[in-house]
Amino acid sequence: MSIQKPSFVVDAMLGNLAKKLRILGYDSKYFSSIEDDKIISIAKNEKRIILTKDEQLTKIAEKQNVSFVLIRGSDELEQILQINVKIKLDRFVVDTDNSRCIVCNGKLEVVEKYRIIGKIPEGVLERERKFWMCDSCKKVYWEGTHFEKLQEFATKLNDRIN
Ligand SMILES: [Zn+2]
Repeated sequence: MSIQKPSFVVDAMLGNLAKKLRILGYDSKYFSSIEDDKIISIAKNEKRIILTKDEQLTKIAEKQNVSFVLIRGSDELEQILQINVKIKLDRFVVDTDNSRCIVCNGKLEVVEKYRIIGKIPEGVLERERKFWMCDSCKKVYWEGTHFEKLQEFATKLNDRIN
């Protein structure tokens, strides 16, 4: 894995897509409200690819030589496949060691159990073996029951690109 993964700046209205990309390990900045010129300058300064549903914005991006993908529809699986047509993405994996915080895009770091006592439900603390903490907003993660669903999502994606 020597090639760096692409990173994104995700336009308002595409919050669910940003979450999925973060889970899949893609550095994805997202703002629930953002001006067009701000999103262009972030893309330029941080070499991020713009993901947007706004055709007007893609025209500005094109003029300024900023990479973008025009996203259509509301299904995240289809949306990620649309990105993959233009920007070749790696085989999809859900690996919490490489995931980003779904809330703030921070990096997740493995955290010892004793450091999160009182911060998560006791039952979870007893049941789960491995925990991660966001290095920015400090949200605690564990793989739990939703993890299987996410793995299924990645498998579906891989089936569609093969
Ligand atoms: Zn966070």
